[in-house]
Amino acid sequence: MLGAGQLGRMLALAGIPLGYEFVFVDPSPRAPAATVGEQIVCGYDDPLGREALAGCQVVTYEFESVPVEAADALAQRVPVFPPPLALRVAQDRLAEKSCFRLLGISSAPFLAVDSLEDLTSAALSLGLPAVLKTRRLGYDGKGQFVLKRAEDVATAWAAVGQAPSILEGFVHFERELSLVAVRGQDGEISFYPLVENQHRHGILRKTICPAPGLTFDLQCAAETYAVRLLEHLNYVGVLALELFEKNGMLVANEIAPRVHNSGHHSIEGTRTSQFENHLRAILGLPLGNTSPLSHSCMLNLVGTLPERAAVLAVPDAHLHLYGKSARPGRKVGHITVRGESEAELAARVAALEAVPGVCDDATPAR
Ligand code: AMP
Repeated sequence: MLGAGQLGRMLALAGIPLGYEFVFVDPSPRAPAATVGEQIVCGYDDPLGREALAGCQVVTYEFESVPVEAADALAQRVPVFPPPLALRVAQDRLAEKSCFRLLGISSAPFLAVDSLEDLTSAALSLGLPAVLKTRRLGYDGKGQFVLKRAEDVATAWAAVGQAPSILEGFVHFERELSLVAVRGQDGEISFYPLVENQHRHGILRKTICPAPGLTFDLQCAAETYAVRLLEHLNYVGVLALELFEKNGMLVANEIAPRVHNSGHHSIEGTRTSQFENHLRAILGLPLGNTSPLSHSCMLNLVGTLPERAAVLAVPDAHLHLYGKSARPGRKVGHITVRGESEAELAARVAALEAVPGVCDDATPAR
């Protein structure tokens, strides 16, 4: 696996019972997955790591900023899933939004911005507010600036470091949703229910599954978009599609070509977790049932570690710590909690949120 963060750790925790062993390549020493497999501490394109991975049955990634060239080089020697093309598209917001447009997937209007002049004319043509986003290496709201007035163009251009960017029309959405989908090597596709995601300071804090008030039509609309993407990319593995909901319609924001934070609830909340299903897909095995077992909620632990006993005292709560030290803004673990009804779930979530450290806001405002 390219990357040895918490996603790699949870993938291995799902794959070990199936009899698999894992090798991770990641430049950070003692990364979260190092306790569940062999970690080779080197860069993603280092020959040392490449040789080790080339000897594996299959290669995947748990981190979408791996150099596409490293994935391409490996794909000459060993099956690499998801296909490096998916990485290429997801790493560049212009390619990603163009792919949505090509496939008839509704997204915010956008224009490429390579200079202050481009930004000025894009702001005029899209209207304000609008969001300037760097094409590459933006995540959790980093590399973004919301322009509210025409005078903001110079500040916005400086804020993104004058990097190649896109300007997107601002979507006045009601809520953020995501769809986690999985496609097998034989083209079989399964979906988890649409989930509602709540962020603070640009970082995902809470996911509710299924999204409250989810309708059959909304689920179908999201699945239709995902099928187009999965088939266009000849995708194998788990893919997450992040969406905005506005007036009952879906507007696509971005894709993640990997297991996704908004799918963590699936470990205890569904019949087969996104981690196991990703492995089943890339290994050419039958996909597992994605049905929810009950209502569930995932709470991210950001910057602080709560006391274990206080979390586990809440009925049907499950704690996942990633073996990372606490630092402001850092995802150090998550909690999944289930309830037989939305009301029971809400009461349990409230009990968890009252535990010191669960939703303390150690994240500095940006
Ligand atoms: P992203 O890095 O694209 O996932 O954006 C981070 C967050 O910024 C999203 O989760 C939204 O809350 C917000 N956001 C991104 N794009 C837009 C947009 N076009 N209109 C309104 N809000 C947005």
